[in-house]
Amino acid sequence: MNIGIIDGDLIYNKKHRFPNLACMKISGYYKSKGHNVELLTDYSSLTNYDLVFISKVFTETKIPEEVLKLPYVTYGGTGFFYDKAEPLPDYIEHCMPDYHLYDKWVQNKIGNGEKKRDFSFYTDYSIGYATRGCIRHCSFCVNKNYNKSRLHSPVSEFLDETRPYICLLDDNILACKDWIKVFDDLIATGKRFQFRQGLDERLLSEGECEYLFRKVKYANKKIFAFDNIKDKELIISKLKMIRKYTDEEIKFYVLCGYNHNVDGVYNESFWIEDITSLFERIKILADYNCIPYIMRFERYKESIYKGIYINAASWCNQPNFFKKLSFSKYCKINGMSRKACKEYNGDYNLYLQDGGKKGSSWRCLEEFTDKYPDIADKYFNFSGDA
Ligand code: SF4
Repeated sequence: MNIGIIDGDLIYNKKHRFPNLACMKISGYYKSKGHNVELLTDYSSLTNYDLVFISKVFTETKIPEEVLKLPYVTYGGTGFFYDKAEPLPDYIEHCMPDYHLYDKWVQNKIGNGEKKRDFSFYTDYSIGYATRGCIRHCSFCVNKNYNKSRLHSPVSEFLDETRPYICLLDDNILACKDWIKVFDDLIATGKRFQFRQGLDERLLSEGECEYLFRKVKYANKKIFAFDNIKDKELIISKLKMIRKYTDEEIKFYVLCGYNHNVDGVYNESFWIEDITSLFERIKILADYNCIPYIMRFERYKESIYKGIYINAASWCNQPNFFKKLSFSKYCKINGMSRKACKEYNGDYNLYLQDGGKKGSSWRCLEEFTDKYPDIADKYFNFSGDA
């Protein structure tokens, strides 16, 4: 059979740069049975194929409705069904991913001048889940229906010896009682690896720290998550523990714009509480030489302070700015044109004296500061190397 595979996120979002594991597994399975399998990068030639599989991870990714109605099209993934998505059948789930599914597409992209390093997850990584599941039931998460984290695939099941790195997609490895076995298996490969999702810092003990910060060869910065201010004391105690083992720079996903009270409303008092919680978490992380990476829940767009959320994300998510500038300075500089910034070497006072105009991020900072001077005073004047 001729089989077409569509990674919907790749077609919808031209900047998407992570392979779809389900697509690679479906391709691996059908190629192993002798079928001809191709990655399709648009919807124009579907009639040339006996079967077409479509997968997407992100709910915002749009797929033409008429394509989904075609009798030879099968589709699935969290992007379609979120937490109700059917898993792949075991005989596909546990087969070796086809690490060459994207080869032609990657070659084209690089041939057209894009940077090779932007495609490293397609070319340099073995990818898989050593464990699946989580214990936390976070209401905003696609994994909220799991009750535990358990072993899923041995590393050998998805390891391509020719690739130098391993990327694990595990939901919450540290919640799995067999985490040591997974780490030992990964160490035995001799390859550098990374967990793509934020690790659950609340579960760290001395044992995990010993592995994570002393034994393993990691492929990237370690990433944890600090999503809820109610975990503040626990997170601080774990940060203190981490700093006994390492002074390396650590990244934290920081969720904002989300009401953890599922029946809660999104009103003025929520936005102020949420912005305060966001900056308190950023400050705590800065105090322990960690870099926040701000994840905005989409409802932040409803806030009259959405400019604060946008600026906080662009400040923190560009660590060079975060380390050198306070939020206040960042908003002012960001509110100058690039040309003016260069001309005045970032001196926004001089720029203003010369009649320069304040840009939107500068105005947004001032509006918020006028209304909530105590919050601004407490949080807007430290930088990431404080
Ligand atoms: S801890 Fe992470 S993986 Fe687990 S439910 Fe919460 S957000 Fe999801």
